[in-house]
Amino acid sequence: MEKTALITGGSRGIGREIALRLAKEGYQIFLTYVSKPELAQKVVNLIESQGGKARSFLLDTGKWEDVVSFFQEEINKKVNLEVLVNNAGITRDGLILRLKKEQWEQVLQVNLTGAFVCLQQAAKIMVKQRYGRIINITSVVGQSGNAGQSNYAASKAGLIGLTKSAALELASRNITVNAVAPGFIETDMTKELPQEIKELYLQKIPLSRFGSSQDIAEVVAFLASPKAGYITGQVIGVNGGMYL
Ligand code: NAP
Repeated sequence: MEKTALITGGSRGIGREIALRLAKEGYQIFLTYVSKPELAQKVVNLIESQGGKARSFLLDTGKWEDVVSFFQEEINKKVNLEVLVNNAGITRDGLILRLKKEQWEQVLQVNLTGAFVCLQQAAKIMVKQRYGRIINITSVVGQSGNAGQSNYAASKAGLIGLTKSAALELASRNITVNAVAPGFIETDMTKELPQEIKELYLQKIPLSRFGSSQDIAEVVAFLASPKAGYITGQVIGVNGGMYL
């Protein structure tokens, strides 16, 4: 069976770059998307044009039963799932006094519940094969908080608690679980921010530049590799030195 890496939200931004990077390490890439099939297909085409193997799947990771069915139909006993990268994430920003129930629930559902159920399904396979690498993409905001992002920060802080707990539960089966906490990375997620907010962030970044998706993908590739076999339960900040 083909050694495979599953990346949720691999159609653009950070997830796309992780997919391309792990393909270079020889993994068959399974990537999921929710709204942009054409972009997901482009990533698949690019990986194939470079001699790799990849497939894309429409999967809303915020839907628990859909994730379970996806694992049953596409992963279990069909591929050798060595790596899971929980990357899919959304923002629905708003100040606490105005935040709507839907904004709270959507963000928690996708960013935290979705990551949990993917981790749970992957862990069932990895426990049996006595090997696995799970990497959760959290955020500097989950470590420091951010005004206007209480829902997002709570989901990302939750992901850190999940990472540390899963690391403890799964270590005896040779499965490592780590989190990568990006700072400000130039993707669609940050593109829409007003220029003055971007400049404020830039002033707070000691390395004086925004991060790239490649900056994140390199760290994920290391954590996914056998070289990182003695690292588990960690949160690796990739943030140019910035803490908000
Ligand atoms: P992005 O450019 O907005 O891309 C988000 C990706 O997630 C897309 O592939 C999207 O698929 C997918 N996605 C969204 N909702 C989904 C769902 N319900 N089910 C499955 N896939 C879903 O975001 P990004 O900036 O690359 O961020 C990637 C991760 O890094 C997120 O977890 C984010 O919180 C985290 N992060 C980003 C930054 C930053 O500065 N950009 C900083 C810290 C942490 P479609 O293309 O189909 O919509």
